[in-house]
Formats: sequence, structure tokens, C-alpha cells
Amino acid sequence: MTPEMTRAQALPTWSSALAVVAHPDDESFGLGAILDAFTEAGTTVAVLCLTRGEASTIQGVPGELTALRAAELASAARSLGVETTTLGDHPDGELSSIDQGVLAAEVAAAADGHGAQGLITFDPSGVSGHPDHVAATAASLEAADTLGLPVLGWTLPHAIAKQLEEELGVAFIGRHDAEIDIVLPVNRDRQRVASLAHASQAIPTSPLWRRLELLGDHEYLRWLRREDAPPPARRQATTSTVSRP
Ligand SMILES: [Zn+2]
Repeated sequence: MTPEMTRAQALPTWSSALAVVAHPDDESFGLGAILDAFTEAGTTVAVLCLTRGEASTIQGVPGELTALRAAELASAARSLGVETTTLGDHPDGELSSIDQGVLAAEVAAAADGHGAQGLITFDPSGVSGHPDHVAATAASLEAADTLGLPVLGWTLPHAIAKQLEEELGVAFIGRHDAEIDIVLPVNRDRQRVASLAHASQAIPTSPLWRRLELLGDHEYLRWLRREDAPPPARRQATTSTVSRP
């Protein structure tokens, strides 16, 4: 059987999911079409965004950046059918300097509060390689281990990442076919509306637009933690049994 045949084409049927991102706009620019697919399928989606995105520039839009980005996030989330958004107050650009356990506790509390059956976040590479994205995913995985929840990671096919890098000179980290578990058919209408809600960021020269063009009607996901992954307690128990003489 080829890898093509083994790849799923549908999202898991969770009644509720928590999306964990580093910056306002990641939920739309990155996860938008996937969150839309979840909400269309009846999944109740909450978004936890760990920073207020204050390290970005305002791109000529009037207003104070932090307040503006919070308002943009709220508007974008509404477009995607997201039920609740929570904004963390960690420093944008410095997420990797925050104790991972602190971030993981916030993710776990948000997942618990929302009754999430699974988490969705960026690939551990950060997709663009941004250290904040990497830190958000690492914290999500630690929280998922604690709660025994599955985690889906959004990724790009290797060829598209390469093409973006060559065309635009910006870093993207993709995955080869064998590493991709779900190839999801998507409709991008609401993702485009949600992305445009981030008016201070969705400028015409943003790599976002070319990425969406290249991705076309599909998004690509990996299981970072499977539905049936054993809880850490059971793994520990197994290890201690094995290591005992
Ligand atoms: Zn980001």
C-alpha cells in the first residue's frame, strides 16, 4: 500500500477541540481552514493564543497595536465559528524563554475548561521555524501528556515549503509524504475572511497569500500525539516494571 492510500482525508470527530497558537493571526493564517472544517463538522472550537502579538508592526493601520490585534483576533475567530478565544499575556518573541511547565499548565487549564477532546497546533518545527511557534507546540504536547489528549499538528508538504522558500526567500519547514497523516480537503472562503480581519498583518506582500495559493484545496496534518497514546502514568509504570530486577 502506498503512503497515499494510508492517509486519512478527514478530521477526527471531536465534540470539542482547543487550538493553541503563539500569535494572533496564527489561528487564521495557519489553522484557519482547518478550524473552519472542524466548526463546520460540529466541533466546538476554542482558541488559546499565548501572546498578544505586540512584537509585530502595525502596517499603517490606525490604533494601538496590542488592542488592535486583540480585536482582530476576536473578529477573525467569529468568522471561523470559533466559540471562545483566550489571549495569554506572554511576551511576543520571548515565548521560548518562559518555563515550559508554566505554558503547559495554561494550555491544560484551557483544554480542561473547554472540555477539549483534542488539541490542534503547529508542527513542532513551528512551520515557519518561529521559536514562539515551537514553544507553543512543546507546551501543548506537555499538556496533552498530562491530560491524555490527542494532538494534531498543522504542517506543509515539503515541496510547497521548498517552493515558498525559493520564491519568497522566507523560511518554511515542510514534511515528506510519509510523515503526513491527514490530507484534508478544505474550503478557504472563511479562512480568507478571517485572515483579512487581521488587517494590520494581512498585507498584500505577506507570504500567506502565496502559501494559500500553493496549498489550494488541501491542508496537511500530522498526529503529534495519537488518540490511543498511553497516559504518562501507564508509561512510567511499564518502565519501572521493566527496569526492576
Ligand atoms: Zn505566528
